[in-house]
Amino acid sequence: MARKKLSKEKSLQRTKFYAQCIVCLAALGAGAFLIKGAADRSTIVSQSPYADDSELPDTTMETAPADTDPNKELYESLMVNTKDKYRGDLILVNNDHQYFSGDEDLVSILEMNDETDRHFFTSVDYTYQILGCVYKPMARMIEDFYNLYYNDTLTIYGSYRTTEFQQQLYDQDLADTGNEESDRVAKPGFSEHETGYAFDFSETVNNNYDGTGDFAWINENCYKYGFILRYPEDKVEITKIKYEPWHFRYVGLPHAYYMTKNGLCLEEYIDLLHNYEYGSDHLEFKDDNSKSYEVYFVASDDGSDTTTVPVPAGKQYTISGNNIDGFIVTVFNDGIPEIMKYTPSTASSDDGDNSADSPDDNGSSPDDSDSAPDNDSDGDSADIQQ
Ligand SMILES: [Zn+2]
Repeated sequence: MARKKLSKEKSLQRTKFYAQCIVCLAALGAGAFLIKGAADRSTIVSQSPYADDSELPDTTMETAPADTDPNKELYESLMVNTKDKYRGDLILVNNDHQYFSGDEDLVSILEMNDETDRHFFTSVDYTYQILGCVYKPMARMIEDFYNLYYNDTLTIYGSYRTTEFQQQLYDQDLADTGNEESDRVAKPGFSEHETGYAFDFSETVNNNYDGTGDFAWINENCYKYGFILRYPEDKVEITKIKYEPWHFRYVGLPHAYYMTKNGLCLEEYIDLLHNYEYGSDHLEFKDDNSKSYEVYFVASDDGSDTTTVPVPAGKQYTISGNNIDGFIVTVFNDGIPEIMKYTPSTASSDDGDNSADSPDDNGSSPDDSDSAPDNDSDGDSADIQQ
């Protein structure tokens, strides 16, 4: 036991420098998704109480007082912009929670396919875009599917939409149905497609994708790549959206794993996380590969421009807003999975590993050898195996 304590203390000292790097980089990362475009978006959506043009405060780091018990987790205080609760992998966007668009880091799906020499799936045309951080796990999932079934018919039929385009779709649906409200197309400002985190499959441009036959593999395994089937058949009463076997939403690992294994839709999961607020028990679990994670909620300080988010010293973590009332911190005790690492658009490759929160690879990157079907030569892989 004493040896363990000593070792942990040593480890903490050794990682102190890395922790500072992580915090600084995370602060930069947090600053990267400010809602610059929120103030000038279309008038059809209501203004965020946080949307204004005033100067945003700098995100800064304060170090928490040193804890004398080496067995106790050390946390540092990270100051983030309160507005960033509207940004991140875990934002809940539905009929009750508007998305405040702006500043999406988008890539053209077909351009990325060309650049990475991927020809086993397509999108309708070059204008179809998705968030840069979503392209890699999406392409990887489809590649693994292709390598299993030699089926190259998948087409991305729906991806990022501007609010203006969502308005057109909505108006068209009202015109087609004669209804006053649509139950098939989300209100402008309230569609996941406006976030860039969601996409729809079609088997070909003309055929609907129903997730059966060969495609059942995708619907059953998408969680290994950080995706959820956003509108499951048994959650219609909660999502208020009919079953859509073709609509996938990126939430990242390990959340897709936890939601799938526990039968939760995004509404239920975001609600559940309120029970795991910082200071009380955190949600701790392991995936099928025994990688361990810790997830907790931090309420936003809505009366202030900044919110203090406690983050674990010396560990890899990510922070996402929930688009409602706070932030979700995800701690990767065994390191951030390769498939989640993303180099922002200034870089030429999508396979970089300098994720903002993970400068400390420390030789502990996930082992690819135990992954789901993996025929890729670049060493990336879905990190969780069923
Ligand atoms: Zn969709």
